[in-house]
Amino acid sequence: MKKEKEMISWSSTYKINYRAIKLIYRHYPKMVLSHFFSIIWTALTPYVGIYLSALIIGELAGEKDTKRLTGLVCFTLITEAVIAFLSALLLKWKNSESAGMYHNIKRIWTKKLLDMDFVDIDNIETHKMLSAIEENHNGGGRGLVAVLGCYETMLSSIFTFLGGLALTVSLFAETVPRSAGNYQILNHPFFVLLILFVLLVITWLSPVLATKAGRYWTMNQNQYTLGNRLFDFYASFGYHREIAADVRIYHQDSMLDNWISDKTGVFESKGLFAGYAKGPMGFYNAMSAAVSVLFTGVIYLFVCLKAWAGAFGIGSVTQYIASVTKAASGLSELIETAGTMKINAPFLEKTFEYLDIPNLMYQGSLTVEKRRDRDYEVEFRNVSFQYPGSVDYALKNVNIKFRIGERLAVVGRNGSGKTTFIKLLCRLYDPTEGEILLNGINIRKYNYLDYMSVFSVVFQDFKLFAFPLGQNVAAKSSYDKERVENSLQKAGFGERLSDMPDGLETYLYKEFSEKGVDISGGEAQKIALARSLYKDSPFIILDEPTAALDPVAEADMYTRFNEVAEDKTVIYISHRLSSCQFCDEIAVFENGEIVQKGSHKELVEDKNGKYYELWQAQAQYYTE
Ligand code: ADP
Repeated sequence: MKKEKEMISWSSTYKINYRAIKLIYRHYPKMVLSHFFSIIWTALTPYVGIYLSALIIGELAGEKDTKRLTGLVCFTLITEAVIAFLSALLLKWKNSESAGMYHNIKRIWTKKLLDMDFVDIDNIETHKMLSAIEENHNGGGRGLVAVLGCYETMLSSIFTFLGGLALTVSLFAETVPRSAGNYQILNHPFFVLLILFVLLVITWLSPVLATKAGRYWTMNQNQYTLGNRLFDFYASFGYHREIAADVRIYHQDSMLDNWISDKTGVFESKGLFAGYAKGPMGFYNAMSAAVSVLFTGVIYLFVCLKAWAGAFGIGSVTQYIASVTKAASGLSELIETAGTMKINAPFLEKTFEYLDIPNLMYQGSLTVEKRRDRDYEVEFRNVSFQYPGSVDYALKNVNIKFRIGERLAVVGRNGSGKTTFIKLLCRLYDPTEGEILLNGINIRKYNYLDYMSVFSVVFQDFKLFAFPLGQNVAAKSSYDKERVENSLQKAGFGERLSDMPDGLETYLYKEFSEKGVDISGGEAQKIALARSLYKDSPFIILDEPTAALDPVAEADMYTRFNEVAEDKTVIYISHRLSSCQFCDEIAVFENGEIVQKGSHKELVEDKNGKYYELWQAQAQYYTE
């Protein structure tokens, strides 16, 4: 079968795993530390038991001194009790620090999504990267989660190995006496080296074979990711209310059934991975298991022969067999973990490719002057803009100024650049040419959050959360009740609020509460408008949140909003001219350019202008 991806080098494996654990430590230091201490403790303490039991057995098989024996047994019991007590404490600490680990790790990349430049959020490539990370995380915990697992086994195996080694050294140091005749060959350095060599080869071979088996997952990473992606979609598609009707009308479930068996068949009994499991993957795993059994045989033989020849007593036999076996299993686990890290490395590369997307836009540090008189002025100066990857200009040489308290309308046909204009104003994108100024300073120089405190926007496709009404309006968990109610009143939601079963505490929709209330599109718009009023920012932008309303209802809503917006600057966007007649200034967009500016009265009189043309074309809708 053809390899999709070659393995990465050992040094890159080490570097990327080290980087990943540092990243997790930066986010969750206590979690990493609690693992560290708990694991070392768990790895080392069994040797105390092995050593003490060997002493007891030695005493039993030897002098059988009752006093010494009683002392040894009591000491062993107390020591083991203290160890068990401390182990339980450490485990509790580790478990409490790791609670929700799966989600905590996930938060590392979801947080990145919230901080990155909008231009990257809008980029399909970002979403492809993110969903690959998610799918690898969900389907088998590959990526960052696996790093924690590796860190755990790596620590445990190193300390298990070292502890075992410490108790094993004397196995080679204790020599067979002269009286043992030919058995003295067991003392010969060459023989000792041969035994060590055989043990090391077996210890190395077993995990190497297991890693060879695991490589088939990495080599087929793309198939694995696609399979998981489709399976996630398949498993969750029944939950989406918004597609439930379509699914029934078009019987889309049967189409999905075909997709799932066709494309995610890689996981099924006749699929790709099952094929590997029956073939090379299964073979390597079986060989790995068989080889490790050989190890036990060799070590039993060597230790028993030395004891037989009189090098040490029966107590030491149990100690050596246990410690050598443990040291070897530590070493074996260490090698296997290294293999797992190598298998996981390409998944980590994908994670870092995403986490390393640079944040270039929001670097400004100036604070926006908080003015009581709200005397803010915004200016677009020769602004042109192309969407990334697009050769066409969505905005061309736009020049406009607006001052606080004004009512500005941005009108034009669909696709003329109105929303793009607002996106630039809100710094979701930076202009390709020209600059936007707030009180004479390029908006790029301001701290982004500070700059955004000046604006409230209600987008056409605004979203409300399935949280309580009050929190939706305030966009915060704790809020000023009176102000929220006031904003809802102003937005025309007052009457409906008095019907809400739990007032502001009423959940919207039913996702998070059975008592949640379903609201209509019109009601949702009012809540979104209330949210823009609650923020109390000097500029409010309404980007056709009313698109679903008929022209008369939109005009009504815009006019009403005009009254409640008081001294704020409001920018109304619409493709329907009738809604914006009351504005102080109307900017007419056409193909990304402002082709006309003026009041409704001025514009409608210019019979050669675009505004007049649009007005005439739309007049049929609102002559009544
Ligand atoms: P309006 O709000 O007036 O309907 P837009 O500002 O949404 O117009 O769109 C202006 C132009 O930019 C249109 O030609 C549209 O196709 C294009 N456009 C909008 N969004 C994107 C985008 N994310 N990527 C590429 N082109 C876009």
